[in-house]
Amino acid sequence: MGKKTLALDLDETLVHSSFKTPKKPDIILPVDIEGRICNVYVLVRPNCVKFLTEMAKYYEVVIYTASLSKYADPLMDILDQNRVAPQRLFREHCTFYNGLFIKDVSRLGRRLSDSIIIDNSPMSYMFQPENGIPILSWYDDREDNKLMELVPVLKAMSRVQDVRRIITESTRDNIMNLEKALKLCERECQPTVPPPQTIEMRNDGMRMQTDGMRITAEDGPDIDNSEQKKLKQFHQNTN
Ligand SMILES: [Mg+2]
Repeated sequence: MGKKTLALDLDETLVHSSFKTPKKPDIILPVDIEGRICNVYVLVRPNCVKFLTEMAKYYEVVIYTASLSKYADPLMDILDQNRVAPQRLFREHCTFYNGLFIKDVSRLGRRLSDSIIIDNSPMSYMFQPENGIPILSWYDDREDNKLMELVPVLKAMSRVQDVRRIITESTRDNIMNLEKALKLCERECQPTVPPPQTIEMRNDGMRMQTDGMRITAEDGPDIDNSEQKKLKQFHQNTN
């Protein structure tokens, strides 16, 4: 089985950007805005790079943002220096609907059963809510650990048949019950051990498997069956 696809939102999921200078910006990004170079001050969510690196082992990681590429592309170049998530989708890859830029998961071009999107704004994946994992919006909390909290579930989900079943059954009111999701994945991915097939003898001499399936005659015991003998005799006589 190939890798599933994990699409990640950028703003307030992986970073928070502003034109106002925070105390200690992690990245200062010059962006051309209508011919003027403006600095965008970027704070990076704790463990963002670690999360990307870890997820790339299990998924094809794609950045899917409604932001403009002139900001998001150079930002990702800085953030993802090891190029673990080289594929990026920007505003032009979103669908403008009811005044919002919607991320249409089918635009990833992957099977929906194998596609996940993580976004702080559930409206972003309103076309396919069963593919979306919500995450708390992040602005500047340095103690935040939401990305790493998702790692065990995402690792487990990389092996399931259909990610939509796990998301649908474990998500209510835009909150995923991580414990429940993990249990659902583990239950599905347990190696299935076939029940032992013991052979038992019935009173009438036919061998039966415990599941009630009759064993073929060749496998059966060589028993003195008077009906069969009579039949054999009949055939011999008629030929
Ligand atoms: Mg966002």
